[in-house]
Amino acid sequence: MRGEPEGPLAPEEITSDSAFTLPGFFDALAEGQLLAGRCTDCGTRLVPPRPACYDCGSRAVRLEEQPHTGTVASYTAVYQPPSPFADLAPMTVAVVELDSGARLTGRVTATLEDVEIGAGVQLRVRDPAEVGVDPEMHLSYEEEWPLHEFDLRG
Ligand SMILES: [Zn+2]
Repeated sequence: MRGEPEGPLAPEEITSDSAFTLPGFFDALAEGQLLAGRCTDCGTRLVPPRPACYDCGSRAVRLEEQPHTGTVASYTAVYQPPSPFADLAPMTVAVVELDSGARLTGRVTATLEDVEIGAGVQLRVRDPAEVGVDPEMHLSYEEEWPLHEFDLRG
């Protein structure tokens, strides 16, 4: 995404398959690319990318690939996850601060007792077919994205 202008997005840049839409974001994720929108006015990173910054309202948002490593900022147990994950209950879900500073929520592949704030995690992208979920079915909640999870590091 280097070399792109840092100005506001032109309408033609926001196509239906661009990563500024959730299907575009999930397509990129399925290929192992975690994308955020970086607001060039205030520096906020938006995951998934949005055409306007939810912090300052600027439309000067550029796509930026995110690192796959980070640390646990907060975590909880979900006892009644959405049906595709029912077998995984109780499911550990964490807000992870990526090394870029972007925050992303996802399942952690560890029990609640093994997770702590500050624990290092590594993003893993799952095969959508393996999960058996159509990502577009999940547009209404971003809390339990089906396509990624975090493994504890070290
Ligand atoms: Zn901003």
